[in-house]
Amino acid sequence: MTAPTAAVRERALALPGDQLPAYLYDLAALRDHAARVRAALPERVELYYAAKANPEPEILAALGPYVDGYEVSSGGELAHVRATVPGRPLAFGGPGKTPAEITAALAAGTERFHVESVCELRMLAALAARTAPDARIPVLLRFNLPLAADSLEDSSLAMGGRPSPFGLDPAEADEAVRLLTDGSCPQLEWRGVHAHLASGLDAPQLLDAAESIVTWSLALAGRHGHRLAEVNVGGGMAVDYADPGTRFDWAAYGAGLARLTDAHPGLLLRIEPGRALTAYCGWYATEVLDVKHSHGEEFAVVRGGTHHLRTPATKGHDQPCTVLPVSAPWPHPWPRSTARQDRVTLTGQLCTPKDVLARQVHAPGLRAGDRVAFGVTGAYAWNISHHDFLMHPRPTFHFLAGGTGSGRTEAS
Ligand SMILES: *Cc1c(COP(=O)(O)O)cnc(C)c1O
Repeated sequence: MTAPTAAVRERALALPGDQLPAYLYDLAALRDHAARVRAALPERVELYYAAKANPEPEILAALGPYVDGYEVSSGGELAHVRATVPGRPLAFGGPGKTPAEITAALAAGTERFHVESVCELRMLAALAARTAPDARIPVLLRFNLPLAADSLEDSSLAMGGRPSPFGLDPAEADEAVRLLTDGSCPQLEWRGVHAHLASGLDAPQLLDAAESIVTWSLALAGRHGHRLAEVNVGGGMAVDYADPGTRFDWAAYGAGLARLTDAHPGLLLRIEPGRALTAYCGWYATEVLDVKHSHGEEFAVVRGGTHHLRTPATKGHDQPCTVLPVSAPWPHPWPRSTARQDRVTLTGQLCTPKDVLARQVHAPGLRAGDRVAFGVTGAYAWNISHHDFLMHPRPTFHFLAGGTGSGRTEAS
């Protein structure tokens, strides 16, 4: 289902045209979904939210009761999440951490450092020795592991086991573990392994990956006579934009993780989804400015475009959408342009042929003045978009809870 919730539909139709486009988030729907995800997971699995999927303060706060912490991937995200949900555990990951970011993360008392390279490990050790000499900083080593599972071998989405700038190569594992366990970095405590190997995977694929990661990590720790405390098996749960009614099978995933924790008592597992937690709670609502016929096809130009909602352009899909017909009298002296055919391609206001939101949408009779709500825009949507291209106004933002909710317009 990508049809807007009642609260979203009502707001999308009630907003004056100059308040569109609008990002409408249904926080009640988000809470429901997050509660269901949490309930599907066994107790000994921690749930962190990957803030990069959508770091809006209202979203971070709404997820609060259902997550154990937040994964941040930059100094900016670290400061933002700390300020927004103070006191909640943070895991600091991401490639290319700067000395200033690490120093700030140490000062902020970050609960987990996801270390991406031997160089970064040495930098963290040196900065911790200088700025936090009495601390014990919990470290997970991020590895780019080969995926044994057959199901992943020919997946174009698998990033593990391939050359990439993410994580440590398995060949460096023993050197990194020695640095953490031979007493040379007394401020650092090796807690375990982190691996985020792929995105867009279904539950069986992610369970295969989790099992491989745990097996590999236990073998590594065993070689060094170390008791492994925890393994973070990452995010990457699939969101199917072509068939948004099909959802990631959290129940099957939770049951599989329960088997894994049962097989390894004393080991804490952690997951850090982004997209699959927040994608479904957001809609980008706008209005049709013009409908035109061009060389045998229909185009509707909507207010806004891929500079607000870049997702369909980056992922190469058609964004799921719902037409909200507007039957109020047309207030203008010129006629309402109207689609002649049933299929209409929805484009934005940018002067580039790439500004396509959805192709060949079934929208018979679509008219200028009608509204459209694009669904599945709660993750990797506004925050990955190139807002300033062409200098159109920004959308307005609305966080709806139980039919009411707050509106805020993006400042500057
Ligand atoms: C992006 C990212 C995630 C979240 O991925 P989703 O596909 O949004 O679930 C989790 N962990 C790391 C390290 C990431 O880079």
